[in-house]
Amino acid sequence: MNILDELKDAASVGITGHVRPDGDCMGSTLGLYNYLKDNRPDLKTDVFLEEPGKEFSYLTGIENIKNVPENTQYDVFVVLDCSSKDRIEPFVQCFDNAKKTICIDHHVSNSDFADVNLVRPDASSTCEVLYDTFDEDKVQKDVAECIYTGIIHDTGVFKYSSTSAKTMTIAGKMMEKGIAYSDIIDNSFYKKTYVQNQILGRALLESVLFYDGKCIFSNVTKDEMDFYGVTGKELGGIIEQLRLTDGVEVAIFLYETGENEHKVSMRSKKTIDVSRIAVEFGGGGHVRAAGFTGKGSVYSIINKIGEMIEQQYCNE
Ligand code: 5GP
Ligand code: MN
Repeated sequence: MNILDELKDAASVGITGHVRPDGDCMGSTLGLYNYLKDNRPDLKTDVFLEEPGKEFSYLTGIENIKNVPENTQYDVFVVLDCSSKDRIEPFVQCFDNAKKTICIDHHVSNSDFADVNLVRPDASSTCEVLYDTFDEDKVQKDVAECIYTGIIHDTGVFKYSSTSAKTMTIAGKMMEKGIAYSDIIDNSFYKKTYVQNQILGRALLESVLFYDGKCIFSNVTKDEMDFYGVTGKELGGIIEQLRLTDGVEVAIFLYETGENEHKVSMRSKKTIDVSRIAVEFGGGGHVRAAGFTGKGSVYSIINKIGEMIEQQYCNE
């Protein structure tokens, strides 16, 4: 797909990503936004997302993001980094009203919900898939910053198994556009506030190893989040540290989102397909990184996940 060809008859384009936007979601939505601003200035282009994290404030166009849906009928509505329609709430009405919809993504659990779907589960990030729809010579520094951001976030700074030689080649090309790559990595990926570090420490302290040390979980309650004054999107680094625990194949992190409700993140190292588990709970994701929002107590959720992990080991 060449995105400029795909949009050549359009006069208006709406763009969105998934709820609780992460680095790849921010990078891909703003990457497309900036690419269109640079190369199709005649086009009315709007990006709709929930309030993004402050760590992404360096991305061009972030101040123009709309947080409230509009009743506009877009000629084309593009959804990025999102595997199912329910993950674009509250902007689903913009999608439903649009004359044509496009989805560009890399989730193995993607349900091909748009009119045109470009889904490459082998790609490291949606930014990598999106970059392939661009003309290389039309990519400017503002777009390069976005693409690089998405790639580093979804590869854990080039270390997850989804990282390929192609991923590195694209990242290298982005570096050649003059981006501040060290700052992007430090400030958007690794930097933590003091309270984020405190709650990370607490989550690690209270983590529980189970299944002969092959699994680990930790959870943060609503009261704890209120005590430290943090929101769910500021808990992003905890699952990564749990995953790094020696001997662990599956790491699970939960935080309370409401009465008897938890947001669950899962990561695996080599054998367990956590996407399959997430899908069973109505969520989705990738083989090595997936999530869902689940009803029930921490222990009931952990018990169910444990059973599914055991089943996968038995079926190996
Ligand atoms: P995280 O654990 O960082 O929230 O998400 C890991 C991966 O799983 C991401 O690719 C994300 O898009 C996907 N994911 C997380 N939560 C959900 C969910 O509730 N539904 C779906 N479909 N995917 C999710
Ligand atoms: Mn992604």
